[in-house]
Amino acid sequence: MTGPVPLASYMRMCLTADVGGYYTGAIEQGRDQFGQRGDFITSPEISQVFGELIGIWFVAEWMSQGKPKGVELIEVGPGRGTLMDDMLRTIKNFPALAKSVEAIYMVEASKELRETQKNLLCGKDAVMEKTEAGWRSTSKYLNVPVIWAETIKGVPQSADKAPFIVAHEFFDALPIHAFQVVNVPAPVKPKPDTDKTQQSEQEPPISAAVLDKSKDANGGGFQWREMVVSPVPEGTTHADLGTPKSEQHAPVPEFQMTLSPSVTKHSKYLPDMSPRYKALKNTDHALIEVCPDASLYASEFAARIGGSAKQPKPKPSGAALVLDYGPLDTIPINSLRGIRQHKRVSPFSEPGLVDLSVDVDFMGLAEAALNASEGVEIHGPVTQAAFLEAMGISERASMLAKKTSPERAKEIEKAWKRLVDRGPGGMGKVYKALAILPENDGRRRPVGFGGDVTA
Ligand code: SAH
Repeated sequence: MTGPVPLASYMRMCLTADVGGYYTGAIEQGRDQFGQRGDFITSPEISQVFGELIGIWFVAEWMSQGKPKGVELIEVGPGRGTLMDDMLRTIKNFPALAKSVEAIYMVEASKELRETQKNLLCGKDAVMEKTEAGWRSTSKYLNVPVIWAETIKGVPQSADKAPFIVAHEFFDALPIHAFQVVNVPAPVKPKPDTDKTQQSEQEPPISAAVLDKSKDANGGGFQWREMVVSPVPEGTTHADLGTPKSEQHAPVPEFQMTLSPSVTKHSKYLPDMSPRYKALKNTDHALIEVCPDASLYASEFAARIGGSAKQPKPKPSGAALVLDYGPLDTIPINSLRGIRQHKRVSPFSEPGLVDLSVDVDFMGLAEAALNASEGVEIHGPVTQAAFLEAMGISERASMLAKKTSPERAKEIEKAWKRLVDRGPGGMGKVYKALAILPENDGRRRPVGFGGDVTA
């Protein structure tokens, strides 16, 4: 009704709008996002070994930091709660850590998924109370509160806590802004011979600003333009939109993405936020995807682990582990995709019913974390295959397989191999792991990132 909206606004409405958002409204519509019958399947749903190894990673990290007290386990975007459940079952086997855990925080935007997580982590009969900050129940594995908040800001922050934070396939669900560099021609000047006297009076002095193409003092030069989303005209077909053949099984998209013909609020400042974007400003047609929410979450993780100017922390403690898909060190481009029932569909068809996701900018997360806190350092990203292999996935899976039937053992093997498969259909290479840790002058590498357990 009001004209084109930024891609980020479109994504936010599709994914987490109060009414009809993919995550926030989906189950009311009688669907489940996860698993074979849902739209997509994630590593914790594929194999229990995934969550167990992540649990072990936190145990090793906690030991290496000298077993700090006041441990908080925080998960952002926990889905069905499977990952946290597998982690807690594992952590329970390490009584010293289990005793140091004071609370479990779940950051979840969806009411239905919150309920699913409560049933898994606390039991079907456990009550979930509404509190001032959010909702709360009690863990079935560790006798501590499980507390839900809708955003990370809702999780209390205190300098004497050691937050251990996990984010699996969370960052790829956050809305992005997309920009492209366009070379805007300078406005046409009157021809020299039309009216010479007037012309010479008005001619501006030639300055560096006019010669430098990146400066648009005269209205010309390179400018960032934002990708915006608007409805397609009635009667539009797949052919009109050039939908790829592989996506034509879905209904004709109701929306389309175009480049805004003029500057927008966001194109004026977001591409100036990082030297990585600025370096591309003079490259005609250069594309970038920028995720302000991802930077905010990474900054929050870093400030909680390492302290910040606003909230100093005498001794940095805790850790964040981010697992997701995206390039190792480049800025993502053209990465928005739509998935429905395990098939690629246009992200602009059936808004609210199609899962939307994007590649995660790992270097962007690292940059935001380091800018937010002097008390942290970054390890990775490394591929999921390298991470899980270093964590002992093959050893753990073969132990598990020994205790079961030959058929089940085959399933276990197929599942874990998919997680580390570096081929095109596998998850070993596209998925990456990145860790935010207390600053230690590079003296210690964490397990899974080239380091060993130190106690
Ligand atoms: N980690 C889980 C689920 C991944 S799907 C797994 O790997 O199986 C993304 C999860 O993030 C869902 O739980 C979804 O409801 C939640 N989510 C998406 N956008 C969110 C937002 N902006 N704030 C909080 N939670 C969000």
